Amino acid sequence: MNSYILAIDQGTTSTRAIIFDKNSQVVAVASEEIKQYYPKPGWVEQDANEIWISVLTVLARALIDANIKANQISAIGITNQRETSVIWEKETGNPVYHAIVWQSRQTQDICNTLKDRGLESMIKEKTGLVIDPYFSASKIRWILDHIPNGQKMAEDNKLSFGTIDSWLLYKLTGGTHKTDVTNASRTMLYNINSLTWDQDILQALNIPKSILPEVCSSSEIYGYTKPYHFYGEEIPISGIAGDQQAALFGQTCFEDGAVKNTYGTGCFMLMNTGNQPVQSKNGLLTTIAWKIHDKVTYALEGSVFVAGSSVQWLRDGLEIIKQAKETEPLSLELEDNEGVYIVPAFVGLGTPYWDSEAKGAIFGLTRGTNKKHFARSILESICYQSMDVLNAMQKDAKLPIKSFKVDGGAIVNNFLMQFQSDIINIDVNRPKITETTALGAAYLAGLAVGYWKDLEEIKASWHLDKTFVPHMSKADREKNIKGWQTAVKATIAYKPNQS
Ligand code: ADP
Repeated sequence: MNSYILAIDQGTTSTRAIIFDKNSQVVAVASEEIKQYYPKPGWVEQDANEIWISVLTVLARALIDANIKANQISAIGITNQRETSVIWEKETGNPVYHAIVWQSRQTQDICNTLKDRGLESMIKEKTGLVIDPYFSASKIRWILDHIPNGQKMAEDNKLSFGTIDSWLLYKLTGGTHKTDVTNASRTMLYNINSLTWDQDILQALNIPKSILPEVCSSSEIYGYTKPYHFYGEEIPISGIAGDQQAALFGQTCFEDGAVKNTYGTGCFMLMNTGNQPVQSKNGLLTTIAWKIHDKVTYALEGSVFVAGSSVQWLRDGLEIIKQAKETEPLSLELEDNEGVYIVPAFVGLGTPYWDSEAKGAIFGLTRGTNKKHFARSILESICYQSMDVLNAMQKDAKLPIKSFKVDGGAIVNNFLMQFQSDIINIDVNRPKITETTALGAAYLAGLAVGYWKDLEEIKASWHLDKTFVPHMSKADREKNIKGWQTAVKATIAYKPNQS
């Protein structure tokens, strides 16, 4: 009888279950939307029980679609939207409040207070993160402040906190309270150097340690499914990683200097920096990539705020295309961008410019400019912005890029991939299986139970779709990059409301 690995990919907008075989092929996928709650402007919440039920639903559907029995699943891996926080009662397992989603800004005041108290550099050094509502710490504080007797219940050891991996593990196993290092490293409470919950930060936020899960490696047996949740079977849950780290693993970026970039609404880039955390001087985050046995691997992480969403802007805002994929043939009708640059600073500029006041800008228009130029310069802007993040990583890590692998919805665009390769002058590798996040969780789970023997065997089961090789001349590359840099400079300079 064949056996398989099942990955639960609990994302921000949907929950998916994907079943993989030994050759990393997808056998079945089931997906379920997650409801978002917006109680006030800027607040984003989800119902933790609904998330749990969505997991049960997709597990059942994936098994039915694959036409396999539960006992053919060798292990389960979990990957999840990071930082989203749940607090539940230890005794009943009932959440005491909605899950506060990573994007939610409702804890801005708590973060401002931490900054006012001068804690920024201490927290950066210990956690690799900047103080921001994204991370779990201020969300925990907020929930304890907003439920009746929250602080007292926490101090009386009546509450448990978890990121979504931890919540799902707790439910699936009927009570195990654990997380993995990658998720812990996004709470802003975990010291990524000493690999412990940080007493100073806990004290600064007055959070009792007893509410926190035990932190484990990313690949080990955390517990077994309760038979009543999984068709009578006790299946090991043996891989956990936050979504971006899981994608880095799923892309088999196992050596230092290996990079993956995800091209979705925004871009998320991670670089494996080996067994040392690299503190960034360029506004990147330092994070744990994974821990296997006793070996911790670190990563630098950077993002591009506006990537695929700028293609959506062409479609829904300007209405000059009907579908995202039209940007590819339109771009290819031009030899080059003919001097047109779009800087899509719709929500300011991130790495390495960090100008939150900047607004988007278009440069180089002539009477001959048409929608081909718009399509092309938008796709080019995704590549230039990714180049900026990659350059920042190279500066911080002082590492040569070993490999550059891509995933996310926009990588089907061949022009985008080729231009990316041309502009960074590095091979861009597109995998066959683009479900890299779920694949990473499956690999971590499979590794722990011997389904895959070692990293070499995993590498051998990973399949390349296509390598895009740089073929732009040095002179053209330099001209293009100079054009982009000039456009960004002008974008930053344009502050009509400042004297
Ligand atoms: P997310 O997970 O952030 O929702 P996805 O990974 O599903 O995003 O990718 C969807 C994004 O990719 C959208 O913003 C869309 O505009 C962009 N996209 C999809 N197909 C293409 C294409 N062929 N060319 C360029 N962009 C595309």
